[in-house]
Amino acid sequence: MGVFAWSGPAGRPQRSAAFALTEQAVASTIPRSLPVRKMFNPSRDEARLFLFESWRKRCAKELLTPLEDLTAQLINKHPEYHEIFNDPERNRDKDYAADGNVLNPFLHLMMHLTIEEQISIGQPQGIREQFARLTQKYESEHEAQHAIMDCLGEMIWQAQRNKTVPDAAVYLACLEKQ
Ligand SMILES: [Zn+2]
Repeated sequence: MGVFAWSGPAGRPQRSAAFALTEQAVASTIPRSLPVRKMFNPSRDEARLFLFESWRKRCAKELLTPLEDLTAQLINKHPEYHEIFNDPERNRDKDYAADGNVLNPFLHLMMHLTIEEQISIGQPQGIREQFARLTQKYESEHEAQHAIMDCLGEMIWQAQRNKTVPDAAVYLACLEKQ
């Protein structure tokens, strides 16, 4: 378990420092050229809207773009979030305390999407191999992504603490230990 306990159904972040992982911080780690980054820039609200809309379209059996389809599939894998995504009016603007006991579902899904993109383009180098190894270890692609998520969080947290750009070497070193 890394600095952040993002994984696990209860999702209790065990933060030990005064730096918070935010949805914006996660989005900033995604290369600008990728579709996910375009979705998540510039605002948090647009990113959230995209998540809600992907889920709504799936539930309404409307045609989804590949990115919307991926997003809706990810939401589908988190039944504990369905109540939230079924009620956009009520949850769209919900704030999650960075050091609270409630895991931010939007942040969690954005991290999944970030990891999906990284795996699909093979960046940073070595991510695909680590994903394959962790999938075998946990016998689940989803749990493998949660293990990767801990390291993604670690990389962002260190960058914030050191006031530097996220360092892929930190990410990969963390992955080695998962
Ligand atoms: Zn998850």
